[in-house]
Amino acid sequence: MDAQIFHSRYNGSVTTESATSSPIADSTSLQEILSSRFGFESFRANQREVCQAAVDGHDLLLVMPTGSGKSLCYQLPAIVRGGTALVVSPLIALIEDQCAKLNALGFNAARIHSGLDRAISRQACIDYLNGTLDFLFIAPERLKVPGFPEMLAKRKPALIAIDEAHCISQWGHDFRPDYRTLGLHLPALRPAPVIALTATATPAVQRDILTQLGIPQAKKFIHGFRRDNLAIEVLEVPMPMRPDLVAEILADPASRPAIIYAPARKRAEEIAARLNQICPTAAYHAGLPNDVRDSVQQSFQAGTLDCVVATIAFGMGIDKANIRTVIHVALPATLEGYYQEIGRAGRDGLPSRTILMHSYADQRTHDFFLTRDYPPVETLDKIFRALTPESQTLDELRLRLNMEEEAFSKAVEKLYIHGGAEVDYANNATRGALPWKTSYTRQSDYRRAQFALVQRFVDGHQCRMAALVEHFGDLEDAAVRCGRCDFCSPGINSVQNWRSPSRQELAGLHAILAALRNTDGLSLWRLQKELPDSLNRKDLDLYLGALTKAGYVAVEDAEWIREGETILYRKAVLTPAGDLVVPGSSFDLKLPESQVSRSTPAAPSRQKSKSKDGAPVLSELSPKARLLEQSLRDWRAAQAKKLGMPPFLVLHDRTLTAIAFAWPKSMQELMGISGLGPAKVEKFGAAILDLCRES
Ligand code: ADP
Ligand code: MG
Repeated sequence: MDAQIFHSRYNGSVTTESATSSPIADSTSLQEILSSRFGFESFRANQREVCQAAVDGHDLLLVMPTGSGKSLCYQLPAIVRGGTALVVSPLIALIEDQCAKLNALGFNAARIHSGLDRAISRQACIDYLNGTLDFLFIAPERLKVPGFPEMLAKRKPALIAIDEAHCISQWGHDFRPDYRTLGLHLPALRPAPVIALTATATPAVQRDILTQLGIPQAKKFIHGFRRDNLAIEVLEVPMPMRPDLVAEILADPASRPAIIYAPARKRAEEIAARLNQICPTAAYHAGLPNDVRDSVQQSFQAGTLDCVVATIAFGMGIDKANIRTVIHVALPATLEGYYQEIGRAGRDGLPSRTILMHSYADQRTHDFFLTRDYPPVETLDKIFRALTPESQTLDELRLRLNMEEEAFSKAVEKLYIHGGAEVDYANNATRGALPWKTSYTRQSDYRRAQFALVQRFVDGHQCRMAALVEHFGDLEDAAVRCGRCDFCSPGINSVQNWRSPSRQELAGLHAILAALRNTDGLSLWRLQKELPDSLNRKDLDLYLGALTKAGYVAVEDAEWIREGETILYRKAVLTPAGDLVVPGSSFDLKLPESQVSRSTPAAPSRQKSKSKDGAPVLSELSPKARLLEQSLRDWRAAQAKKLGMPPFLVLHDRTLTAIAFAWPKSMQELMGISGLGPAKVEKFGAAILDLCRES
C-alpha cells in the first residue's frame, strides 16, 4: 500500500494514515475544515454528529430532508479520512453537479458514467488507481461493466457514499435495479465505512437499504423532518366547496404568498380564476406553454403574483422563502409527496399554515387513477391468455380482444414489465414465461398501500407533525407534539358553518344508514354500489362526512390478508347510535355550509377533447406541434429498435403528445412533463430537446 498517497488534506501535513484506519479528528478540527475547505461558517443541525461518526469509521444510514445538507456529511469525513471517497449516485445530472462543485472548491473530483467520453473515464480510472483523487463519482450501472468492480477493488476507497440510497429498495419510489447489485460489490471494497444517504425512507425502506447493502449494524441518523413553524391543518370539505374556502382563507393578505396544489389542470385553472378575484394569481401546470410557465414562476418569485395554483409539476425550481400558506385541494397520492409540498411553506422560519382539504370523494378519484394505472389482474390475464408462442402485433391483438386503446396499452405494459409478455421493438408480442401475477399484484398493492397511509394520516387521531415525523422513521422525535396542528390546537380553523339537511338530503342520509344496517361494514367502494344511482358522489361525500362527524357511522381501517400479505382498506360501519336511528325520521345532524351558495355551478369544461385527467390529447395539438409529435414518434421507433425494447417502454403515446404540447426548451421543463421521471429525462432528455430545437 502506498501510504504516502494518503496525505491528510485538512492540515496539509503528510501522515501515514492508511485509507482504512480512522484518523482522530476532534470537533475543533472538523469545524476548522468546514470553514477552510468548504467555506461554511457553522455546521447545520446534525451535520457535526454525522461527520464525527463517519470520521470514526462507522457505517451510517442518513435520512434527512432534501436541502438539509447531506452531501457535506460524506464529503467532510472523506477529506478528514484522506484517500479517495467513492460516491455512487443514480443520476448523471447529480454527479455532474456535485463533481463541479467539489472541483470549484479546489478538491480533485472525477466521475465515470455513460454520458462521458471514453478517454475521460479512462483518465479517471488511472487517477483513481494512482490515488490522486479526493472523490470518484460513479453511476451504479458502471458496476455491471466487466472488470470495473475489480479495478475499484485494486485500491480500496477510504469511504463509500451511496447517495439517493432509497433507489436500492424495491419499496422506494424510484427503485433502480442497478442499485441492487451494489451490495454484492461492497465487500471487495471494504473495510471503508459505507454511508447511505436519502431524503425519503420509511422504516420498511430503511430496513431494505441496510439489508441490501449488508450493513445491518449501521448507525442511523434520521433527523430534521420536524418543521417547527408549520401549522398543519387537515380539513374535511366537500369538493364543490373547496374553491370558496380557499378564496376565503387567502382573502387575508397575511396568508399570502401561497401555493395551492390542485389534482388536475382543469381544477387548477378553475381555482386560479376564482382567486384572481382577490389577488394576482396564476395557474401553473405542464399543459401550459413554456413561456407562460417561465413567466408565472418568475412573477411568483419576484412577488408580483401572490398565489400560484399548481399541479404537482410546480416547485422544482422554486426557492421562495416567504410562502405563508400551502393548500392542497385534494388528497395527495403519497405522504412523501405531501411532505415535500407542504415543506415549501415557511422556509424563512416564520409561522406558516398548511391546509389539506379532503373528503370521501378523494378516495374515489384515487381509486380511478389507481385502477387506470394498475388495471385488474383479470384484464392482464385476458391479454396473457390471448398471447401465444407465435408472435402477433399488438394492434391485431387489441382488435381481436376488442379492448379500448388506453386500457389495453396499460395492461400490456404491466404484463411486459412483470414478464407475462414479450414485446419487441416493432410491437410484436409473444407470451412471456415469468410468474407475472405475484410480482404485479405486489406492486399494485404497494401503490394502494401508499395511498392508504395518506388516508390513515388524514383520519388519524394524533399530532399531524408527529405523524409525519413518525412516517419518515424518526420514532424518537415522533413522541413530541407540535402544539400547532388541528389536532394539538383544535379550533384554529373556524371557517366552517353548519346547517340542517333538506328533505332530499335526509333521504340520502337514510339510504346510507340502510345500506350499512345488518352488515359488518362495507368497503367504501361497495357502499357506493349499494346506493341508489340518484345519489351522486358529491352527495355521498357530503353525507358520509356528516354521518361520521355526528357519530352515526364510523370509517375504519380494515385489513385483508392475501397470500401472506396484509392489504389495508377502509370500510364504513354503522355505530350503535346509527343503528338506533328510526328510518325516515329527521335526526340530529348538521351539514357543512358553504360561505357562498353551494349551488354555484362549476365552470363548464371548455375543452371536451381533454382526457379525463386533463392531459393534452392529440386533437389539441397545433399543426406545428403535430409535426413535432411525428418526429418524436420516429425517434422513439428508432430508440426502441436500438434498445431492443417495446416503444411504449421508451415513452408512452400520451407522453409524446404532452412533450409536443409543452415544447420544452430545458431539462427542467422536460422534468415538469408528466410521464417523464428523472430516469427517462436522464436517458432521453438530450435527444428530446434536440428534436424540439430542430423541429
Ligand atoms: P441534500 O443532499 O440534503 O438535499 P445538499 O447536500 O445538496 O442537500 O445541500 C443543500 C445546500 O445546503 C447546498 O447548497 C449546500 O452547499 C448547503 N449547505 C450544506 N451544509 C451547509 C452548512 N453547514 N452551511 C451552509 N450551507 C450548507
Ligand atoms: Mg443530496
